[in-house]
Amino acid sequence: MASISLDGIGKSFGRTRVLKRISLDIRDGEFLTLVGPSGCGKSTLLRIIAGLELQDEGSVRIGDRAVDGLPPKARDVAMVFQSYALYPHMTVERNMAVPLVMRRLGALQRMPLLGRLAPGTERMRASIAADVRKVALALGIEPLLARKPGQLSGGQRQRVAVGRAMVRQPAVFLMDEPLSNLDAKLRVSMRAEIKELHAKLGVTFVYVTHDQAEAMTLSDRVALVIDGELVQIAPPQVLYNDPDHVNVAAFVGSPS
Ligand code: ADP
Ligand code: MG
Repeated sequence: MASISLDGIGKSFGRTRVLKRISLDIRDGEFLTLVGPSGCGKSTLLRIIAGLELQDEGSVRIGDRAVDGLPPKARDVAMVFQSYALYPHMTVERNMAVPLVMRRLGALQRMPLLGRLAPGTERMRASIAADVRKVALALGIEPLLARKPGQLSGGQRQRVAVGRAMVRQPAVFLMDEPLSNLDAKLRVSMRAEIKELHAKLGVTFVYVTHDQAEAMTLSDRVALVIDGELVQIAPPQVLYNDPDHVNVAAFVGSPS
């Protein structure tokens, strides 16, 4: 678990200023949802938190650490994308194991002697397989472990993408419109699963969605970004029922 603190985050692509001094404190264990029109900078902000993109101005803290300059794998976050981003040539099991293998191989390489010992590697393999199986059981995808992504439905792929994030036991989940490729019925059931995941793990979520019902049911607070600026941050009932700005009302479609 970890709090996240964004202080004056600015970002431009070429001459386009995409994020304008975004400051935002996300509480430890909070479910925060970013909403806003397409192109307003939501994905860029998420990628900056993940370390996949570097901000031009400002700083990011995760837990008690300033993470500016740290690569994604050192940030204790896991990201789930809209496109799932699974490796098509690998089985579900391999897909879910990849982040753990990378992390533990990294640790082994820092201990060159251990790295050459076969028993150490075998033990690592077995413990990764056990971790993957545990998560797969929890998500109901254990029967799919030997399949490849091409042999899965959209919902199953999405579960695998969530599972791959879970095996790392990150302090923070970053999810970028993870359900938007699913049909309406599946979206509703996956929404319930994400809510349950948050309740069970108690870790911090930063979530991006277009779907007002998703934002309403999942979020502790919703942050509205318009044109690279943070316009309002409030519990969903307040944002949707009592918007404090005409832009907010226009975006969420409330009557005022
Ligand atoms: P959102 O997720 O809210 O739809 P994005 O963060 O993806 O918005 O994009 C914000 C703006 O930044 C858009 O105008 C987009 O075209 C631009 N943008 C995003 N990534 C890049 C990039 N790598 N290079 C250039 N422009 C980008
Ligand atoms: Mg986006």
